[in-house]
Amino acid sequence: MFEKILIANRGEIALRVIRACREMGIKSVAVHSTADADAMHVRMADESVCIGPASSTDSYLSKAAIISACEITGAEAVHPGYGFLSENAAFAQALQDHGIEFIGPTADHIRIMGDKITAKETMRALGVPCVPGSDGGVPDYEAAIGVAQSIGFPVIIKATAGGGGRGMKVARNAEELEVAFRTARSEAKAAFGNDEVYMEKYLQRPRHIEIQVFGDGKGRAVHLGERDCSLQRRHQKVFEEAPGPVITPELRAKIGRICAEAVARINYIGAGTIEFLYEDGEFYFIEMNTRLQVEHPVTEAIFGVDLVREQIRVAAGLPMSLDQEALEINGHAIEVRINAEKLPNFTPCPGKVRVFHAPGGLGVRMDSALYGGYSIPPYYDSLIGKLIVHGRDRPEALARLHRALGELIVDGVDTTVPLFHALLAEPDIQHGDYNIHWLEKWLAAQFG
Ligand code: ADP
Repeated sequence: MFEKILIANRGEIALRVIRACREMGIKSVAVHSTADADAMHVRMADESVCIGPASSTDSYLSKAAIISACEITGAEAVHPGYGFLSENAAFAQALQDHGIEFIGPTADHIRIMGDKITAKETMRALGVPCVPGSDGGVPDYEAAIGVAQSIGFPVIIKATAGGGGRGMKVARNAEELEVAFRTARSEAKAAFGNDEVYMEKYLQRPRHIEIQVFGDGKGRAVHLGERDCSLQRRHQKVFEEAPGPVITPELRAKIGRICAEAVARINYIGAGTIEFLYEDGEFYFIEMNTRLQVEHPVTEAIFGVDLVREQIRVAAGLPMSLDQEALEINGHAIEVRINAEKLPNFTPCPGKVRVFHAPGGLGVRMDSALYGGYSIPPYYDSLIGKLIVHGRDRPEALARLHRALGELIVDGVDTTVPLFHALLAEPDIQHGDYNIHWLEKWLAAQFG
């Protein structure tokens, strides 16, 4: 087992990894920018190294600075968390070249899944159902029209190198397609430095269902059911639950087996998430994330597992301790993402937190790097905490979420907590009756 792990991240996910390290008797190294000198992950880790200025390009995204920090501290492995360098194949490769273990899949797997066209082709070949669409990239408007005619409108144009919901455009007819095609390409070029786009049939009222998989890198893999992450704003998840309200045990077993077999066949190692749109009993693959997801705690809650511990184990060459037969769902879990943002426009609201009180009690987990007196810097993501509740069933989880949200105090900055209070009062949320468009429509109706 490793003696020391460096965490190439900040915020709640850095704490999440430090906690797993401590339980496993592994020393942890935090890295931080100058703006994060007082951050909780720096205080909680055994050691810390300043790796650059506030701008993440020169700190949390600096491969050289992170590798130097490993060398200075003698860290043998790096956990990348999510975001930043977690899906950067060159980083995984650079670590390997320096004899440092990357706690995640191989650089090749990251590369395959990071290119959405290659990912789709790979998954299709592995028997995973995909959204009907173009065969690979679409070079020009004439080709786009051809694809639209064969799959039918509406269509969605997506950046091959895309992520975070950027560079996606929907077109309902030929005129819209002309504009959408052009803007998707220029947005993709600006955001990802690659203007290649592809097309898919635009599903009208799907749910976002993702399957958690885990592989040992030696041909064995398991699935840990699904998460329903349909409640999204601008393609960003805000509320996630497991199990999915509309997924039956039969559907879960079927899609879960397909996913586990697919990743087993490519000798995938570690945690991964295969994302689908789900409509009328059918699953359509959209992408695979080769890392730990923000919403992984709902899966941990219902299966009683520690995914980070498992990631560290397999990276260290130990056998995977997860066994499909033994993985059983227990109850229902919900996570809400709490951002330092001002409603109704979700304007980022960094600043000083005067008082922070985390909710507690049975079935409540608060993953947050806040503390009273902490100043949220303006340079990074506005996620300040994740509140995860677990109950024996969905109604109990909903009641517990309501109770826990009522206990949470974040005084000094605006947060998205009022959004969740309002959502919990909605019959559609209470009944699990929503799709990927529900939240946007609801927000438009509430705030115009
Ligand atoms: P990103 O990597 O940018 O997050 P995804 O391919 O995962 O992009 O898609 C993000 C979200 O966009 C999905 O969760 C869904 O809400 C929407 N979306 C993507 N593809 C389609 C599609 N074919 N039809 C309808 N909605 C889609």
